[in-house]
Amino acid sequence: MLAVSYSAPRSTPVLGAWRDPVCPEDGVVVRVGATGLCRSDWHAWMGHDPVPLPHVPGHELAGTVQAVGAEVDRWAVGDRVTVPFVCGCGRCRSCEAGDTHVCPQQTQPGFTGPGSFAERVAVHAADTNLVRLPDNLDFVTAASLGCRLATAYRAVVTHGRLGAGQWLVVHGCGGVGLSAVLVGVALGARVVAVDVSTEAVARASELGATATVLDADPVAAIREVTGGGAHVSMDAVGDPGTAVASVRSLRRRGRHVQVGLLLGNRATPPLPMDLVVAQELSVHGSHGMPAHQYPEMLQLVADGRLDPSLLVGRVIDLAQAPAALVAMSQPATTAGMTVVRLD
Ligand SMILES: [Zn+2]
Ligand SMILES: [Zn+2]
Repeated sequence: MLAVSYSAPRSTPVLGAWRDPVCPEDGVVVRVGATGLCRSDWHAWMGHDPVPLPHVPGHELAGTVQAVGAEVDRWAVGDRVTVPFVCGCGRCRSCEAGDTHVCPQQTQPGFTGPGSFAERVAVHAADTNLVRLPDNLDFVTAASLGCRLATAYRAVVTHGRLGAGQWLVVHGCGGVGLSAVLVGVALGARVVAVDVSTEAVARASELGATATVLDADPVAAIREVTGGGAHVSMDAVGDPGTAVASVRSLRRRGRHVQVGLLLGNRATPPLPMDLVVAQELSVHGSHGMPAHQYPEMLQLVADGRLDPSLLVGRVIDLAQAPAALVAMSQPATTAGMTVVRLD
């Protein structure tokens, strides 16, 4: 089959022949219909997040089941599916409790094994991890579901417990940040979008953000706009300064949700724990979303309250994917998700 791969960090990715995936006994092979390009793919390519080499990136995928392992009960050839970027093993205590997204034996196509910048990709523990796509959701739009939208949904809804009329601050309007704006608006919240890029905050406004802050030191402006701080604030960047600013953006009893990855020497931001105690703030980490939680998010889509197609920016083909991955080293010139369409 054809796949995009690279042999070393920062080496030029190439489109070429790659071995066909073997169908796991408990898994499936998915024929990829579309796959998104995520900042995490770029982090892996840069070497920030080690992956086995040579490597096929890609984890925001949607497609059709092409082969089914003998141990799989719930899925058949031809099913239209997506998959969370974290796949649980389906067997351990975490998975039994429904917490497949933090499974200690997790697999991640595009990180722990070959990903979806390819014609086909293997997914383990299919009964645990596959998500059925509504018939009317095209693959390009559905490519937003595996990583950015699901991550934003769980962060805002499950951890943030954001209610209608409340204030949500989103620090960083990249893929997951703009997804959080969309989720906040869908819930009837008032959203403040923060970024240093004019294009990014402009896109957040188009998606329904109530206010935008274009400032590297945004806390005072946020507290002003929200009348004393937000109910929920998210660091969608993954930067110590942003994490601190997010906590300082909160009103009393507010919830900070850390979504941006704090890798390497960014791992221990100096959060103001004095405020956390005195104001009963809470600090949450959020890491994807388990497959069993997807139906509630897809219900918002079915109801017309959440439109993931608004996240899609440029649609390209597999031959253009190597250049698109490398181009993430430069500042983005357009907001929105780059999607590789294969079907
Ligand atoms: Zn597990
Ligand atoms: Zn991702």
